Amino acid sequence: MDGNKIRKKQARLLVMKFGGTSVGSSDAIAQTAHIIQDECANWEDVVVVVSAMSGVTDALIACAKSAVTGDQEKYADLVCAVQKKHQRVVNELITNHEVKVKLQDELVVLFDTLRLLCQGIHIMGELTPRGMDAMISLGERMNARMVSALLHQNGFASQAVEATALIITDDSFQHAHPIMELSRSKTRAALQPLLADHIIPVVTGFVAANREGIITTLGRGGSDYTAALLGDFLNAQEVWTWTDVDGVMTADPRIVPDARVIPELTYNEVSEMAYFGAKVLHPQTIRPVIERDIPLWVKNTFNPAFPGTRIDGCSKTERGRITAVTAIHGLSLITVEGRGMLGVPGIAARTFAAVARHEASVLMISQSSSEQSICFVIPSDMEVAVLQAIEDEMALELTRRDIDRVWAQPDVVIVTAIGSGMRQTPGVSAHLFGALGKKNINVIAIAQGSSEYSISVVVSAADADQAVRQIHEEVICNELSE
Ligand code: ADP
Ligand code: ASP
Ligand code: MG
Repeated sequence: MDGNKIRKKQARLLVMKFGGTSVGSSDAIAQTAHIIQDECANWEDVVVVVSAMSGVTDALIACAKSAVTGDQEKYADLVCAVQKKHQRVVNELITNHEVKVKLQDELVVLFDTLRLLCQGIHIMGELTPRGMDAMISLGERMNARMVSALLHQNGFASQAVEATALIITDDSFQHAHPIMELSRSKTRAALQPLLADHIIPVVTGFVAANREGIITTLGRGGSDYTAALLGDFLNAQEVWTWTDVDGVMTADPRIVPDARVIPELTYNEVSEMAYFGAKVLHPQTIRPVIERDIPLWVKNTFNPAFPGTRIDGCSKTERGRITAVTAIHGLSLITVEGRGMLGVPGIAARTFAAVARHEASVLMISQSSSEQSICFVIPSDMEVAVLQAIEDEMALELTRRDIDRVWAQPDVVIVTAIGSGMRQTPGVSAHLFGALGKKNINVIAIAQGSSEYSISVVVSAADADQAVRQIHEEVICNELSE
C-alpha cells in the first residue's frame, strides 16, 4: 500500500520531551505547561516526557553515596533539599486545593520511598546498580506528577504515567536496553486508551523496568531516548526535545561561546555527535526514530519562537565539510606495543576480548600500519582493571618479549570533527591537522570512522578546549563563511 495513504489514516501525534532545565524551577515548569497547551491546539495527540528537575538526579546520586558511606547527616540534608525543591514548586504553582492535596499525597509517598531507600542502603552498607536505579528514578517520578497536576489545574486532562509500565528492558541496571516489541505493545496498551480519551500522558523519562517490574534506567540523559522510543512505538509524526539552548550547535557553547545553531542535520551526523560527546542528545536517541524516518527537533524552552534544529534522514542543504566539533573527557589511551607483534595473528582479538570481559567500552581504536602497536581509548575509571586484564592475557608474550609493554596514558580527550560533507571532499584531514599544528597541539592518536562522517583525534586533557576552539574557528567557521 502507498505509504502516504497509511500516514493519512493515522492520527497526528507529537511526542515532546522536556529536559532538566526546562522543568528546573516554577517559572520553567509554567513555561513548559504553556508550550504543551499551545501544541495541543496544533496536534491531535500530544505525549509528554519529562526529566527530573535539573540537579535532582545528581542530588539523588549524592544521597545514595553518602548513605553507603554511612554519612547519615549528609544524606538527611540532601533528602530535605530534594523535598524542599519540589515542595516549593507545589506551593508556587498549584493553587487549586483539590489538585494540591492529591499531588501532595503522591509526592509524600515518593519522599518516604527516598528516605527508606537511603536507610536501606545505609543499614546494608551496600549500593548495588539496582539500588541506584530505584533511587535515581525518583526525580522523574516526582516531576511527572507535578507537570501533570499543573496541566490538570490549567484545564487540560492529563495523567502522570510511570514508564516502568511502558518500557521493558534487560537487567543491565544503570544503562538498560529496551526489549523493543514487548515495550511497543505495553506502550500502546497503556497510552492509546488515554489518547483516545484526550488525556495528555506525562511520562517519566529515563526510567524503565525489567521483566519482573524492577526499576531500571536508560543511562544519564536517557529521557531523550524515552521520547524517541515512544515516538517509534506510537507512530508519532514528530519528536521534539526541549532544552536550554536554541538547538544542536556547531560546538558545546560552554567551550566555544560563538558556536552557532545548526538548522538541519542528518540522523547520521547527530548520532556521531552524540556518540562523540555532544551532551545535547543521548547517544541512543536516533535509533528508534531512524527506522520510521520520524523527524526529530531540538528546541529551546526559553525561546520557543526559534525553530531549533531539525534532524532527519536527508541532507537538503550543502553544509560545510565539517559541521560540528565535539569532545569526550575522562579517558585513558591504552597502548599494547612490541616488535614481536608483527604478523602474529590474534593479538588484537585477544586484547579486545580481555577488555570486553571487564565490560569496558572501547571508544576509539587505532593501529599503526607497521602492526607494532595497537592503541585504544577507554573511560579512565576502567584503566587499572583493563591493564591488568591485558597483562594477564598476554603473560606469555610479555615474558617472550613479543610484547614489550602495555601502558596507559591517562587524562586524554577525544576531539571529533563531524560532517557528512567530508566524504566527498579531499583534504579535510589536512585542513584539520593544519589547524591543530598552528597552535602546536600534539595529536596523540587518530581514527577516522569508516562511515566517513567523522575524524577523531586524541589530545591531552590540557589541550582539549583549545583544540575544540581551534577546529571551530579555523575549520567550521571558515567553511560556513566560504
Ligand atoms: P536537557 O536537560 O534539556 O536534556 P542537557 O544539559 O542534557 O539538557 O543538554 C543540553 C546542554 O548540552 C546544553 O545546555 C549545552 O551546554 C550542552 N551541549 C554540548 N554540546 C552541545 C552542542 N553541540 N549543541 C548544543 N548543546 C550542546
Ligand atoms: N534525569 C536524568 C539525568 O539527569 C535523565 C535526563 O535528564 O534525561 O541523567
Ligand atoms: Mg539531556
